[in-house]
Amino acid sequence: MTSIAANLQAVRARIAAACVAAGRPADSVQLLAVSKTWPAASLREAAAAGQRAFGENYVQEAADKAAELAGLDLEWHFIGPLQSNKTRPVAEGFAWVHSVDRLKIAERLAAQRPAALPPLNVCLQVNVSGEASKSGCAPEQGLALAAAINALPALRLRGLMAIPEPTGDVVRQRRQFALLRHTLERINAELDFRLDTLSMGMSDDLEAAIMEGATIVRVGTAIFGQRD
Ligand SMILES: *Cc1c(COP(=O)(O)O)cnc(C)c1O
Repeated sequence: MTSIAANLQAVRARIAAACVAAGRPADSVQLLAVSKTWPAASLREAAAAGQRAFGENYVQEAADKAAELAGLDLEWHFIGPLQSNKTRPVAEGFAWVHSVDRLKIAERLAAQRPAALPPLNVCLQVNVSGEASKSGCAPEQGLALAAAINALPALRLRGLMAIPEPTGDVVRQRRQFALLRHTLERINAELDFRLDTLSMGMSDDLEAAIMEGATIVRVGTAIFGQRD
């Protein structure tokens, strides 16, 4: 077995154990393999080990890899900061965007999504740590933004995404993940929506995220190794 295949197996085991601990079905959490900075050969190894969904942060890098791996039927998720002048290749080449943090970006993605493709799945990124440097809308803006994005054609609003402040303190991790879950629950209750996605949890904190309801965990280092 390659080390990527072994790492994937270990991450899947962590997810399964966390689901048991949380009293959740094993299939309620999807693994997104975050492959930024890794070459197409690494993704090919992960794909051979059964991984289909990949997360990328940089538009050009993702386009190059997608072209190289076009025969593999992979699902591409954009998870990086998105500038408004870079939305077109994302609208054309991805199945999901996790990092929508303002209406202007959502409007551009909606306008640029090719009619021949299914709607683009999007998550609204929320700043759950309160750090001014972090991207994402404020939790209090979530309701209004979700309502506006949900009304756009060619997009399918699926839920919320967060990148919490890195901390080894599990209580602080869980508090931030819980804030994202509460924000989603409030949107669903007040707007009568059925958003089903909480994109939260990475290599170091996926257990805490699953305890708080994560439905997609975005894992890079634990699968592919330490990035330079
Ligand atoms: C890089 C990245 C990840 C993966 O982080 P790891 O700690 O390597 O698992 C997840 N989400 C986003 C948005 C990222 O940029």
